[in-house]
Amino acid sequence: MPSPTFRLYNTLTHETEPVEPIEEEHLRFYSCGPTVYMYAHIGNFRSFLTADLIRRTAEAIGWDVTNVSNITDVGHLTQDDLVDPGGEDKMQRALEREGERFANIYDLARHYTEAFLEDWGALNLREPEVRPRATEHVTDQLEAVIELVEKEHAYTTDHGVYFSVESVEDYGHLSGNTEAQQLQATERDVVEDPDKRDPRDFALWKHDPQHLMHWHSPWGWGYPGWHIECSVMGMQYLGDRFDLHTGGEDLIFPHHECEIAQNQSLAGHQVVNYWVHTRFLQVEGEKMSKSKDNFYTVRDLIAPGPDDDHVPASIREQGGVDPLALRYALMQGQYRKPFNFTLDTLHTAARHVRRYQDAAERVDAALAADADGPDELGSRLRPIYDRTLEAMCDDLNTPAATAAALDGVKAIEQTDRLNGATARSACNWLDRTNALLGVVEPEHEADQHTDAGSENGLAPAHLSDSIDTLLEDREAARADGEYARADAIRDTLEALGIEVMDRPEGTEWRRTVELE
Ligand code: AMP
Ligand code: ZN
Repeated sequence: MPSPTFRLYNTLTHETEPVEPIEEEHLRFYSCGPTVYMYAHIGNFRSFLTADLIRRTAEAIGWDVTNVSNITDVGHLTQDDLVDPGGEDKMQRALEREGERFANIYDLARHYTEAFLEDWGALNLREPEVRPRATEHVTDQLEAVIELVEKEHAYTTDHGVYFSVESVEDYGHLSGNTEAQQLQATERDVVEDPDKRDPRDFALWKHDPQHLMHWHSPWGWGYPGWHIECSVMGMQYLGDRFDLHTGGEDLIFPHHECEIAQNQSLAGHQVVNYWVHTRFLQVEGEKMSKSKDNFYTVRDLIAPGPDDDHVPASIREQGGVDPLALRYALMQGQYRKPFNFTLDTLHTAARHVRRYQDAAERVDAALAADADGPDELGSRLRPIYDRTLEAMCDDLNTPAATAAALDGVKAIEQTDRLNGATARSACNWLDRTNALLGVVEPEHEADQHTDAGSENGLAPAHLSDSIDTLLEDREAARADGEYARADAIRDTLEALGIEVMDRPEGTEWRRTVELE
């Protein structure tokens, strides 16, 4: 089957569109990362998971991917009523709250960045190609602000530098916000400054020599506004035309609206083609909030402390849930539909992930055994994978994708005795499904074949037959134009220690490590 068309809902056009990368078969995208002032919560990770699934789907249809995902480690005056009602500098507030634990604001940022990266790994999110930090790009941000002033898209007051929203056409296009709505949303986002030309104008640089993080600028000591960092880091690493940008729905306005205004003014043209936003996660039917006791960080659920009273006993008593179960639970809602996260969803997810794991273990064991026989599984599993990929390509329909994939697990479970041939088919299916959904132990992806055979990482000798079969399957896939499947088979072969070389005279292969 040829790869399905990858479609995503584009906030900019209000339509679900085929994703057409600017560079052929190479998706380049930017994801707004966390503000590192506390442990990330499960809502944050709903948004980061969307970016991971975009990557995995793009790779499954054979594309290359370059993803830039930043760390916001400069404090900003933004409202976050989950934690700090009233809108205060999140990082500064965090330091006031937890000052004794940290030497200074940089120490706090470092701590929460490290914790964030650990959670990221635990949830089996793929690493972005670039993970820039805002504090490491302050000079670049300053240069951009200077350029915006020179181009008369920005002006200075005693309090800082502001972007003039009137200097661009289409301000408000992304969010569809009227001027009144823009005003309302902007009021809570910036410091009052009577010298602003238009109350909607947003800060590019704030003059504040007292701020905990401050840098020198042509306008004195201060710090950059929030929106400029993503414009600058996006264009620095992806160029002034790239495909896609992700973030949570709260970022549509003002953050992404402002980013578009800055980008357009700096580049002179549209920079990003698709804007993809994740709907906010709710917990037990309500907006997550510390005051409602329905607020969970990732580590609350995967590694709760004995005194974390707000974590339900059912989770605390088992020492936390498998992080992959949390990942799977978050996939039970499509990213742009309202999603109500419940403990029931989490417990069901844990059972499903366990079934994947058990299937993977059975398959590994069967691969190591010598028995061979007819393959009655491959023909059942192939269409199941196709359905899973189709669902992911359909605007990341993760509930449909995971439901389809569970049929594959059932098919393996229903096979009483796995012989060598069925195990190979099951293994191939598990690998491809796992590359797409990431719900089996990460180690399974990398090590399973070599574990099954010998200690030195060689392909077990009894797999020789399967190598021929895989090569034939790959040839068939290529002949049918199914390049993503052909690539997936090549990956499987590589994991078996087989390098495949396509030459004009035909396909050749060699072992990358010699068998004894
Ligand atoms: P922050 O650390 O506040 O900068 O947020 C990091 C990312 O998480 C941003 O893309 C937010 O839009 C997103 N986010 C925050 N809360 C939620 C939520 N409840 N559900 C989904 N995404 C969220
Ligand atoms: Zn951003």
